[in-house]
Amino acid sequence: MTYASVIVDVPAKQTDRAFDYEIPEKWEGFIQTGMRVIVPFGPRQVQGFVIEIKATSSVKKTKPISSLIDVSPILTKELLQLAGWLRDHTLCFTISAFQAMLPAALKAKYEKWIIAKDLDKIPPHLQLLFQPSSRVRFEELEGTSHYKLIKQLIEEDIVEVYYEVKDKLSKKTVRMIELNVKKDELITAKQQIPIRASAQHKLLDYFIHSNKERVEKKQLLEVLQIGTSAIQAVVKLELMKEIQEEIYRDPYENREFKKSEPLPLTAQQQEVISPILQSIEENKHKGYVMFGVTGSGKTEVYMQAVDAVLKKGKEAIVLVPEISLTPQMVNRFKSRFGSDVAVMHSGLGMGEKYDEWRKIHRKEVKVVVGARSAIFAPFENVGIIIIDEEHETSYKQEDTPRYHARDIAMERGRYHQCPVVLGSATPTLETFARGTKGVYQLLTMDKRMSDQGMPPVEIVDMREELREGNRSMFSRNLLEKLQSRLERGEQSVLFLNKRGYSSFVMCRDCGYVVECPHCDISLTYHRSSNQLKCHYCGYEEPVHATCPSCDSEHFRFFGTGTQKVEEELTKLLPNARVIRMDVDTTTKKGSHEKLLQQFGDQKADILLGTQMIAKGLDFPLVTLVGVLTADTMLNIPDFRSSEKTFQLLTQVSGRAGRHLLPGEVVIQSYSPEHYSVELASAHDYLAFYQKEMQIRKNHQYPPFYYLALVTVTHQELTKVVTVTERITSFLGMQLSKEAIILGPVSSPIARIKDKYRYQCIIKYKKEPNLHEALKRIVEKYQAQMDQEKLSIHIDLNPYMLM
Ligand code: ADP
Ligand code: ZN
Ligand code: ZN
Repeated sequence: MTYASVIVDVPAKQTDRAFDYEIPEKWEGFIQTGMRVIVPFGPRQVQGFVIEIKATSSVKKTKPISSLIDVSPILTKELLQLAGWLRDHTLCFTISAFQAMLPAALKAKYEKWIIAKDLDKIPPHLQLLFQPSSRVRFEELEGTSHYKLIKQLIEEDIVEVYYEVKDKLSKKTVRMIELNVKKDELITAKQQIPIRASAQHKLLDYFIHSNKERVEKKQLLEVLQIGTSAIQAVVKLELMKEIQEEIYRDPYENREFKKSEPLPLTAQQQEVISPILQSIEENKHKGYVMFGVTGSGKTEVYMQAVDAVLKKGKEAIVLVPEISLTPQMVNRFKSRFGSDVAVMHSGLGMGEKYDEWRKIHRKEVKVVVGARSAIFAPFENVGIIIIDEEHETSYKQEDTPRYHARDIAMERGRYHQCPVVLGSATPTLETFARGTKGVYQLLTMDKRMSDQGMPPVEIVDMREELREGNRSMFSRNLLEKLQSRLERGEQSVLFLNKRGYSSFVMCRDCGYVVECPHCDISLTYHRSSNQLKCHYCGYEEPVHATCPSCDSEHFRFFGTGTQKVEEELTKLLPNARVIRMDVDTTTKKGSHEKLLQQFGDQKADILLGTQMIAKGLDFPLVTLVGVLTADTMLNIPDFRSSEKTFQLLTQVSGRAGRHLLPGEVVIQSYSPEHYSVELASAHDYLAFYQKEMQIRKNHQYPPFYYLALVTVTHQELTKVVTVTERITSFLGMQLSKEAIILGPVSSPIARIKDKYRYQCIIKYKKEPNLHEALKRIVEKYQAQMDQEKLSIHIDLNPYMLM
């Protein structure tokens, strides 16, 4: 008899350990570590991961494994081990670590059913629920008044809970509404539809005025705010038809990539690549900070290092921030390495992601270019890990397990004895500090590839503009420069910093701001639906005409969306062709890339957008970059807000003058004297680093101190306060006198979804007891967390203090 140690998919403290199961004879020798199985666990069947095969078990009575999910391991030995590291360093459950390493398509999904064992014993008023199939979906009962009774029936063994593991890998399709007639036929047909049927008119109008022939059904329903019956009616008239469209599995499959050859490296590139090549050659783990200004040729260095790794028969992991946002980067890797590259990012559908993951798993590719979760790519012979734009906050996962991809990269780099390269023009203070202290080796590239050098940056004081009577969102200076680009046939990029900035609605007479009734946060105006929405809980309401507080009509949209900028722009520069890129224009798959392509083909003069245009774009004809609002992020209550502002302004400025034509940058700001604005315009990272390090030191923030954040949430305020108080005083007893414990204080967003939020922040240098103390807190409150919906989140090295 052989046994398997299994981590079961029941994320709870008591079950966060391996359980032993017998391996039935028929599967002996077949079941391996890293495979998923179904095992009996108490009264139910659950999924589990096999982490060890052994000849004996110290458990007296073991049950056999019920069935297999995989026929080959889906987690390598290294990843099984890495899960333990994640558990210890982020305080998550082992099972959550496993799940984080797998594509969503592979994650456990059950259908829970309540099955009647003895229908006659079920109270008559409930019997109907169990007919005709004598089973009912668990979710249908959860939260209803029957729930208590059902629970009792379970205990009396009259009904039972059954877990059905679903196979969820079906083909991905969407419902589309397609025009069945010509546009002018629509216009005549419209006249015959009764006026009352206003939804049908809306639908027809949409197609008459739009240049599209087919639109996703869901999108139509949302945008037009109509019901399905209107669509059915129009389909019945045979004006349109409803079709199922299968979505592409490989989004890059049908695209041609021109093969690119390695470029002869410049002296500067040569200098930074040689230590990396040496590490590759010697199979040595080492961390590198590649500190290179925008346009210094970092990507070419990455690609040639990857090339060296492939020549040794090894594999490469390249992380880029949410690459659906930087198609140019994907193109560069695809052109160089062709079908050896898998691409993984959140823009892909679940099935597509799974397909890309499978290519890695089956060793059909040797390079993965992907966002955060690609750090778990199941390669077994990794030769290099590269993290581009390492300062990006999207490398930190905000849900359990709360890991940072950089830490995982270092851990895997140690395991595979390979170099890890962290590249950025604006490294995080943590990383750069390690670079200067020699923990990582610092590689500097301070010259751009083009001879132009860094573009000159001009700061415009928008308060001054206002004083001189210019109420427009464009300063006179910026407008003039845009004009001159139009005349010369050159291109401009306009950047609107939307982060930390909401288009909230405010009364100009009494200052009333419309807030979400469930969360302590202002509602955001959505122009397309003319609704106010809460970004935290999804609550929405229509826009009021007058102020609900004082009835004033001076109740207007505060804040500037890209749409509004576009409107003003076309008024001021009627001849300019503008491409707008924001969440509204890029929701459809591939639209992001299409818009960039159009801009690259010079079908527009101005590219206007939010964060998504800040990174990685490289267009030869762009000679002007304008930042409309530089400082909206400075007001966020976050000790990293200056750093983030500096990084963003530097990134944006880097989009200008990357090739032959000289570029320039105009930054509009309401706080032009702020050092992060000033130093970004001077392209002076080192001065910023020194200044900011001083501030961090004085205020005891990273990288001088580590941070841990405990957030407690519950429906009742008194409960939240008492629990947080207890946690704070418990930590006070467990930790050393050097630790700084702040709290309990209300979180910056004090309430979300009707739940109050309190926090406790721990600043520390060395606290060997911290992890243990935090674990004990979770254990102590486990019962309350399960039963009373109390929640306690622990984030070690938090990136969001909200
Ligand atoms: P970064 O990633 O540092 O922003 P890039 O890798 O995008 O910089 O390089 C900027 C530009 O210089 C790109 O157009 C790139 O193709 C070009 N380039 C990079 N290395 C070389 C080289 N060795 N010779 C010629 N052109 C190069
Ligand atoms: Zn008012
Ligand atoms: Zn809300």
